[in-house]
Amino acid sequence: MKNLKYMSLVWAFVCSISFCLTSCDKEEEDVNTVAKPVITLTEVGHDNSKIAHPGHDMHLEASLLAEGVIQRIDVEIHSVAGGEDLLEIAYTDGKYIGVRNAEFHEHLEIPADASLGKYHLHFTVTDGQGQQTMTECEIELVEEDGEDDEDEHEHHHD
Ligand SMILES: [Zn+2]
Ligand SMILES: [Zn+2]
Repeated sequence: MKNLKYMSLVWAFVCSISFCLTSCDKEEEDVNTVAKPVITLTEVGHDNSKIAHPGHDMHLEASLLAEGVIQRIDVEIHSVAGGEDLLEIAYTDGKYIGVRNAEFHEHLEIPADASLGKYHLHFTVTDGQGQQTMTECEIELVEEDGEDDEDEHEHHHD
């Protein structure tokens, strides 16, 4: 009889410990799990044409959401054929940094001596927890045809 009582006490003790362990575990998970940054490329090139011209700037817009707060943005463009980097830009301060939500809008200067052809654009967001999300998009560098020249120069956003 005594033994049984002792056993049930031990059992209750074990139960309370395991209950504590599982609940503590859960809490820790909640604190550490922050969703990775989400990137939506809304416009790459004029009217999302995914086309750029050497010696001109390329319009780039993206919606960014980072629960862990945006800490760094990297934009990289490399050629598909040779793999060489055309552009590499890092944003580590300014209006996009330290916020959860940002509407990224920049005009990237394409070097005049860039060779025509297909390129990859890589857009990477790093949050305050060190989590990274990368999204990519294919773009093409073509010769300026002059037709949309006027449009391009009137293109101003605030
Ligand atoms: Zn623009
Ligand atoms: Zn690539």
